[in-house]
Amino acid sequence: MKNSVFILMLLLSTNFSLSAEDRLKPSLNIDQQLQAADKLRSSEPAKFADLLNKLQENADTYTPEQRDYLEYLIAYSFTFQGNPNEGLSKFKRLVNSSANKLLKFRANLSIINILGNSQNWNEGLSYLSMLLEALPAVEDEKVYQLALAVSAIFYNQLGQYKLGLTYGQRLSDRATTPRNICISKGFILEAKLKLNILDKDSIEFTKGIDACEQANETLMSNFIRSYLARLHINNGKPDQALAILLPKRQEIEKTNYARFTVDIYAALARAYHLKNDAEQTRYYALNTINKAEKLGTSESVVQAYYLLYHLANKNNEYKLALDYHVKYTKANKTYLDSIQAKHLAYQLAEHQAIEQETKIQLLDEQNKLLRVEQDLAQAEAENNKLFISLLIALSTLLIFWAYKSRLTQKRLRQMAEYDALTGIYNRGHFTQLALSSLEYCQSSNLPLSCILFDLDKFKNINDSYGHTCGDWVLKKTADVCRNIGRKNDIFVRLGGEEFCIFLPGCDLPTAKEFAELCRREIAAIDCTESGANFNVTASFGITTAQLSGFDLDKIIADADQAMYLSKNNGRNQVSLFTP
Ligand code: GH3
Ligand code: MG
Ligand code: MG
Repeated sequence: MKNSVFILMLLLSTNFSLSAEDRLKPSLNIDQQLQAADKLRSSEPAKFADLLNKLQENADTYTPEQRDYLEYLIAYSFTFQGNPNEGLSKFKRLVNSSANKLLKFRANLSIINILGNSQNWNEGLSYLSMLLEALPAVEDEKVYQLALAVSAIFYNQLGQYKLGLTYGQRLSDRATTPRNICISKGFILEAKLKLNILDKDSIEFTKGIDACEQANETLMSNFIRSYLARLHINNGKPDQALAILLPKRQEIEKTNYARFTVDIYAALARAYHLKNDAEQTRYYALNTINKAEKLGTSESVVQAYYLLYHLANKNNEYKLALDYHVKYTKANKTYLDSIQAKHLAYQLAEHQAIEQETKIQLLDEQNKLLRVEQDLAQAEAENNKLFISLLIALSTLLIFWAYKSRLTQKRLRQMAEYDALTGIYNRGHFTQLALSSLEYCQSSNLPLSCILFDLDKFKNINDSYGHTCGDWVLKKTADVCRNIGRKNDIFVRLGGEEFCIFLPGCDLPTAKEFAELCRREIAAIDCTESGANFNVTASFGITTAQLSGFDLDKIIADADQAMYLSKNNGRNQVSLFTP
C-alpha cells in the first residue's frame, strides 16, 4: 500500500512539533539551538534551513555529541529536500558511529523510511530488525511509539499484514496522543482489510474515522474511508462506496498526495463499473492512469487498465481493447513482480534470521563445549592441586613419621643402652662394650684395668633422707666420675649403688690414680644441694687384665673382691686385687 509512505513521511517529519515558547531565541546555547532546529525541521522548513546553516558554521568547536546531533539534522534536511540518497548515507554513518543510542535509533527510523520509500525491502528489513532489537531499551516514549508506527507501516507496505497488524495493535495499546490513537487504528484497519478479516459493518471503521477526526488527522480518516469503500466494492456494493468517496474526493485531491488520489480514482472507477456507468468508469480510470504517470505502476493502475480494456472490448473497439490489454498485462506483470520482490525480500530476511538463529545456536553449543572444557580443565587443575596437597601432606606425614620413629628408636636405644637414672651405660650394653675392648686389648697386647666401686652405707642415706635423696646421690656420683674419665673409658652402673669403670689401654698405676681421684671427688660431693647434710663415700676395688686375665666375669669378680677388701678395711678407700 503506497499510501503508507506518505503517512510515514508525515510522521517522521512532524513528530517533534514546536510549541510557541520553544521558538528560537538568539541567546540559546548550542545544545538548545540543536534542539530548536530539531523541533523546527518540519513545521518551519525555512527557519530550519537558516538555523542549520548557522549551526554548521561553528561545527568544529562542537563536542562529539553536538556534532552527531548536527549530522542527524543535516541528514534529515537532505532526505526531505530532494536528496534522500545523501540523507541515507549520512544516517547510515550515524547508525554505525558511536553516537548516543537514541540518536542512532532515530537515524535508524529515518533509514527505514527512506528504504521503504525506495522499495528497498531487503535492506529495509535488515534495518527494521536492528530497530526492533534496540526497541525494548528505548526510554523515550515518543520515539518508542514512533518506532512501533514505522514497523507497522513498513510491514503493511511489504505486504506482511499479520506483522503490520501486530505492530499496529502494539501501538494502539500504548498510544497516548490522539494522533497515535488515530494512526494505530488506520494501520490495523489496513492490515485487517488485506487479511480479509474485516466486516464492512464493523464498528472499527466508525471508531477509526472518529478518532482521526478528533485528532484532526484528515488524511488518515480519509484512508480509513477508502478502506471501507473498497470493502463495499469488493462486496458488490458500489453505492455505499460512492457515498463514502464522492463527498471526500475534492478534499483528497487537494492534499496533493498523488498516490492516494490515484487509489481513490481507481476505487471510483471500479464502483462505477459495478454500476455499469461506462462514462464515469472511463473518466476515473483515465484519471487514474494520468495521475499515476510519474508514480509508476500500482494495483490501481492495473485495475484502471483492466477496466479500460473491458470497456473498449464491450464497445467492440478491438484495437483499443488490445492496446489496453497489452498495457494491462504489462502493468500487471510489473505489479506482480513488485509483490513477488516483497515476498522474496521477506523470505530472505526470514531465512537470514533463521540462519542467524542457527549460527547463534551453534555458537551457543560451541560456548557450552568451551565451558565444559574449561570446567574440565579447572577440575583437572583442582585435582592436580588436590593431588599435590595430598602429596605434600603425605610427605610431611612421612617425614614426621620418620622423625618420630628416629626419636623412638633413639629413645629405645637410650633405654636399651643407658641407665635411666644416671645416664651412664647399663649393665647389658656395658657387657658388649667390655667384651669387645677386652678382645681388642688382648689382640693388641694392650693393658686393661677395671675399677669397681660401691657407695658406703647407702642404705642409711635412703633410710635417713628418703629414696629421692638416694637417687640424687646416685646421679651426682655418676656425674663427678664421668667428668674424670677419658673418651674410651666405659663407665657403667652395674646395679643398685655399684659402679664400674672399664679402662682399656690403662695400666694399674694410672687406674689407681684414677680411682683415687674418683674416691676424692665422691667424698667431696656437697650434699647440702639435696636439701640434707651428710657425706657420701665409696669403696673401690681395682684389678687389671694382667692380674685377672681377659675373662670379663673373672675381672669383675676380682675387682669386686678388691672392693670388699676396702669395705672391710673401713671403707672410703681403694684396694688392689691380689691373686
Ligand atoms: P655397704 O657400705 O656395706 O655397701 O652398705 P650399704 O648400705 O651401702 O649396702 P646394702 O647392700 O645394705 O644397701 C644397699 C642399698 O642401696 C639397698 C637399696 O635400698 C639401695 N638401693 C639400691 N638401688 C637403689 C636405687 O636405685 N636408688 C636408691 N635410692 N636406693 C637404692
Ligand atoms: Mg652394694
Ligand atoms: Mg653399698
